[in-house]
Amino acid sequence: MKKALINIDYTYDFVAVDGALTCGKPGQDIEKEIVTITKEFIEKEDYVVFAVDLHEKDDQFHPETALFPPHNIRGTKGRNLYGELQDLYINTKEKPNVQFMDKTRYSAFAGTNLELKLKERAITEIHLVGVCTDICVLHTAVDAFNKGFSVVVHKNAVASFNESGHDWALQHFSSCLNAKVI
Ligand code: ZN
Repeated sequence: MKKALINIDYTYDFVAVDGALTCGKPGQDIEKEIVTITKEFIEKEDYVVFAVDLHEKDDQFHPETALFPPHNIRGTKGRNLYGELQDLYINTKEKPNVQFMDKTRYSAFAGTNLELKLKERAITEIHLVGVCTDICVLHTAVDAFNKGFSVVVHKNAVASFNESGHDWALQHFSSCLNAKVI
């Protein structure tokens, strides 16, 4: 079975202490695990997608504007990957199996060509890491389920600012999306 790693929103704004919409310590605590898993997928030549939130400055029409402070604005350091993951990306971004993909909604499938990229590579199983467990990781997992992909969630490489939301999402992945939570 061909598999891919979808690395979701592990950026400065979502993880750093002074990030614009940070999930704080839980996000910082998964740095090593997320780097280890990503390195492994890249080395095995599996497809790795960095699906990264993109917003335009002062976008009055974006549905998140009413919900969250500005974050991941185009051209700002807030969109850089966090910590060692940024170094790993910089060192491997020329590889044919490594892809950076802008997304503008919670789900990495919404308004992107992710599904096409997976299907043209005959990938049927997607692995999820990143933040937040109960927002962008969850919405990506729901879309993957509806599109017929098998989903694997790495529980030590996902995090949220909301502990109960994180726990709820982990059980939802396995009980309703038939995901493997490992
Ligand atoms: Zn956003």
